[in-house]
Amino acid sequence: MSQLLFVNYHYIRDPGQYTVGVGGEAQFPGIHPLGTRAFADQLAWLSDHFHMATPAEAQAHVLGHATLPGPSVVVTFDDGLVDHAPAAGILEAAGIRGVFFVTSRPLVEQVPLAVHKVHWLRATTPPDEFREEFNGMLPGEWAEPNNPNQDAEAAAKIYIYDQPADGMLKYRINFRLPHDVVDAVTTAMLKSRGVALADFCQGTYLDASGVRALQDAEHLVAAHGHSHTPFSRLEPDALATDINTNLECLGGILAARPRWVSYPYGRDWAVPADTGAFCRQFGFEIALTLKAGWNGGGADPTRLNRINTNEVERVAGPEAATNA
Ligand SMILES: [Zn+2]
Repeated sequence: MSQLLFVNYHYIRDPGQYTVGVGGEAQFPGIHPLGTRAFADQLAWLSDHFHMATPAEAQAHVLGHATLPGPSVVVTFDDGLVDHAPAAGILEAAGIRGVFFVTSRPLVEQVPLAVHKVHWLRATTPPDEFREEFNGMLPGEWAEPNNPNQDAEAAAKIYIYDQPADGMLKYRINFRLPHDVVDAVTTAMLKSRGVALADFCQGTYLDASGVRALQDAEHLVAAHGHSHTPFSRLEPDALATDINTNLECLGGILAARPRWVSYPYGRDWAVPADTGAFCRQFGFEIALTLKAGWNGGGADPTRLNRINTNEVERVAGPEAATNA
């Protein structure tokens, strides 16, 4: 049975590329980029072992209209980062076409997403300074965790590579603090560093012509929400506004309505409870999570599995292939 694997990428950059502001060079953990050489090497390895399906082939397979020639891979890119223009060039040189999921708030409002502000601030601030500053700027009711022991335990399970204090902060940012609180605090932190939001956007995200260039080169451009708020956390009205704004913006750039979406954060907690109803409501045919694994026959098109680049070895490497 043919199987389909989606492999996702975020930052693809070499040291010193895409700095934002003065002293914006990443020195601390925060952004974990894949270098361009490692990216090209991984593509070459995948191409040697699997059929690199086009987005259209993958769609036809998932919707049951056609079969793939064998185990196949589609590469995807989340967030519309400036890194993705040269990454697309590397794909094109290898004869591969990918799917680029683009958030629209940076494009429309020149306002960066909370997640990228957090990454950049963590990459340019020593960890204990970042923690202290971030916690110190939280409004009173959010300054202390309600269930510190429970949160610490949950954080230790998810952020196994982080120091406990850093894992706890990441956990609070992703799971406990309201998205708008994180957004406001990180904006204030950028301001205190003299970084204007528009400059941050320019150094971090593709603009409309960059997004259009992806489509012109026959990649698929698709939806990823307007504000990158986890869809599971939005009330129905706010969710509709977020998705429709994203669709309108991308529709204007692409002259076509996106039929694919990837769920921001992609884990179970971030994905709408009823993905079928969600996709029907907004006209999506294919929706990708970040739940690791291949997609076999009968996979649900509204919640397909997808792995990150650092999971390729574990999920699709030689050992995984032998055990399959
Ligand atoms: Zn994202």
